[in-house]
Amino acid sequence: MKLYNFNSGPSILPQPVLEQAAAAILNFNETGLSLLEIGHRTAWFQEILQEAKDSVKKLMQLDDSYEILFLHGGATTQFMQVPMNLLNESDTAAYCDNGTWGNKAVKEARLFGNVNVVADSSDRQYQYINKGFNIPSDSVYLHLTSNNTVEGTQWHQFPEANTPLVADMSSDIFSRPTPFNQFSLIYAGAQKNMGAAGVNLVVVKKDILGKVTRKIPTIMNYQKHIEAGSLMNTPPVFAVYVSMLTLKWIIQEGGLEEMGKRNQAKSALLYHTIDSLPLFHAPVAKEDRSEMNAVFFLNNPALEAPFLDLCKKEGMIGVKGYRTVGGVRVSMYNALPLESVEVFCGLMHDFAQQHG
Ligand SMILES: *Cc1c(COP(=O)(O)O)cnc(C)c1O
Repeated sequence: MKLYNFNSGPSILPQPVLEQAAAAILNFNETGLSLLEIGHRTAWFQEILQEAKDSVKKLMQLDDSYEILFLHGGATTQFMQVPMNLLNESDTAAYCDNGTWGNKAVKEARLFGNVNVVADSSDRQYQYINKGFNIPSDSVYLHLTSNNTVEGTQWHQFPEANTPLVADMSSDIFSRPTPFNQFSLIYAGAQKNMGAAGVNLVVVKKDILGKVTRKIPTIMNYQKHIEAGSLMNTPPVFAVYVSMLTLKWIIQEGGLEEMGKRNQAKSALLYHTIDSLPLFHAPVAKEDRSEMNAVFFLNNPALEAPFLDLCKKEGMIGVKGYRTVGGVRVSMYNALPLESVEVFCGLMHDFAQQHG
């Protein structure tokens, strides 16, 4: 049976990327060695790492005031590593609490300094993004989550701030044209739109570093990673390789303009289908809907289980909502073809006919 992969993360990757990655595990670039058997300080891996960094810079259109790092630990490590490197104990950082992941970032930042939650949409179950909030001018930085993977909201316009912007872009990185140069620090776990689990992309503007007085453990110190060129210790070689292949795929397919068009088309079709069938409803504020993760419910909760059963039977993978939210969540990352959304929407129509 054909499967349609709507997983929220780790999630669908482009087929050519999987094929190249599989081949490299057996015989990397005709070297007779597996990619998993070569040293990370070889010219071979240096080239992979350089190509990954160059591709990030190209896609983000960044100048040399930024550094590109590939680090361990997933986005969750960045929840602590960001404030450890940027926030003195007596200073205050502004945070947006707009979802499950952003809320975790707030909690970790409190371990290092003062946190001022300047935007909070938990009053309506994180179903919207705050707008027009005040950012005190003495904030060291403003942290936001560009796409709320769990709740299905996304920033479509970023706040204008005189404060350095820091963003967790784990679930919508490289999904659309983005004003990356408005940010001082961007991080993303690779496993949603960029590659395989196990590596974290950190893009940092050098001028925000070196300002905290605390002692930072070497492995947590962005400056030390910059000095070491992302090779302080053994990096997650395979995960970096898969990211490099995916980044190259994005460039070959037409870059962020093209990704944006495709993602817009997919999400527009799905939201239109939800809105047009009275059986379903999407609770997220329309202007804040995510193009990556669509969250919706059946108006009659008793129909949720039969709908999810049908999805399973028809090969729709990963569409059950996050455990704290429930309902249905359809993730439509870069590698998901429009056809998958078309088939899913067809299934929604069929189900609506049977139960309408
Ligand atoms: C998945 C996700 C995370 C957690 O990523 P890990 O790599 O598992 O630590 C953090 N933030 C966002 C927005 C996510 O989608």
